[in-house]
Amino acid sequence: MTEDRRLARLLGTALLDAVLPQRCLVCGRFGASLHEECLATLPRADGSRCTRCWRPGPGTWCERCISGGREAPAFDGLRAPFRFERDARRAILEAKFRGVTAHLPVLARAAAAVVPVGWQPSVVASIPLAPRRERQRGYNQAAIAARAVADALGVPYRPRLLERVRATAPQASLSAERRAANVRGAFVARGVPPEVVLVVDDVTTTGATLSVAAEALAAAGSLRVYGLALARED
Ligand SMILES: [Zn+2]
Ligand SMILES: [Zn+2]
Repeated sequence: MTEDRRLARLLGTALLDAVLPQRCLVCGRFGASLHEECLATLPRADGSRCTRCWRPGPGTWCERCISGGREAPAFDGLRAPFRFERDARRAILEAKFRGVTAHLPVLARAAAAVVPVGWQPSVVASIPLAPRRERQRGYNQAAIAARAVADALGVPYRPRLLERVRATAPQASLSAERRAANVRGAFVARGVPPEVVLVVDDVTTTGATLSVAAEALAAAGSLRVYGLALARED
């Protein structure tokens, strides 16, 4: 291939990227990263759940939350709009591992919509990646989601409120019992955090990561800390 032709091909690719409309992650049609009607087909994390930790349960606080023991989460509430299944799972994995992030704000707005009115966070924060992992990936999907949540709620986003002070094994690789130990002490709050903080992560299973983040913020002076994930693994 001549240099001219190679250049023409490169330019062609760049032009196509610039002019082609986005393609929907669910239906594959062009026009949006995720159509509103396709968003409506994602599996909702609704039904009867613990009103604190959002596990499927009695519709009031679950036993773990009532116990207040070591197993109880440190956050004051957790919500997620979707179950980590089917297209919701695929959408989050695309963002986590394949660099496809255009649909994250759409999911994040759906997450903001399930934040209870009584929470009234003064700022939004996000679960930080280990710096090395963020450098490799080039972005933090939780941070992209958190910024969109903050915009939707009309409150400031504080990207560096939480700092990861040690790297941890990916939670997905561990059993439920080992997840809490894996992330214990992984975060510190920088400076004096606001009284009411909403921490955003992309996906939650046991709530261990958000609980440890809440512990760090409470230790630094926050009075209430809530968690919000795009999807919850039931
Ligand atoms: Zn669609
Ligand atoms: Zn609970």
